[in-house]
Amino acid sequence: MLNDSLPKYFDPRKYAHHESAIEGYLPLNQLKELCAVLASDEGDAFIHLDFRVDEDRRYIATGSLKTVVQVVCQRCMDSVSQELAVDLSLAFVYDEEHAKNIPSDYDPVVMTDGEVILADMVEQEIILALPIVAYHEESGCNPTAVKYASSTDDAPDDEQKPNPFSILANFKPSKS
Ligand SMILES: [Zn+2]
Repeated sequence: MLNDSLPKYFDPRKYAHHESAIEGYLPLNQLKELCAVLASDEGDAFIHLDFRVDEDRRYIATGSLKTVVQVVCQRCMDSVSQELAVDLSLAFVYDEEHAKNIPSDYDPVVMTDGEVILADMVEQEIILALPIVAYHEESGCNPTAVKYASSTDDAPDDEQKPNPFSILANFKPSKS
């Protein structure tokens, strides 16, 4: 299933002038910054992009990004699969200054020496698409982990127990 047609680096201007497309799978374990926030580095991201030059002579790519990542459930702290499907509308620019002039329907991607590192770009898009907090579906949590996580709420409070210091306070020192 894996194909090696994805370039590591690409020049979006060449792709746009030729109206080329790129498509393929990128292993998630190549995306270190992303994997640091995931519960597992297993899986692939599928990416498809069609390049063109638009009427304002911008270098554009539209397409999609699909992946399934393992994130941490905030209820039981176990891993939960999260399917991500992102529509991409990218505009490639020379620097941050140009990025400000891009219409809001495009995500600016800043080129470095006229090139883009595909993995970095895909990584940023996935990080942006991640949910801020994730949970299992209702009752889908790991039961042992949930019991453990909520055990502090069920712990008996010790307000009923006499405070040992108040007892001690009743003993008056005896002079000898
Ligand atoms: Zn859970």
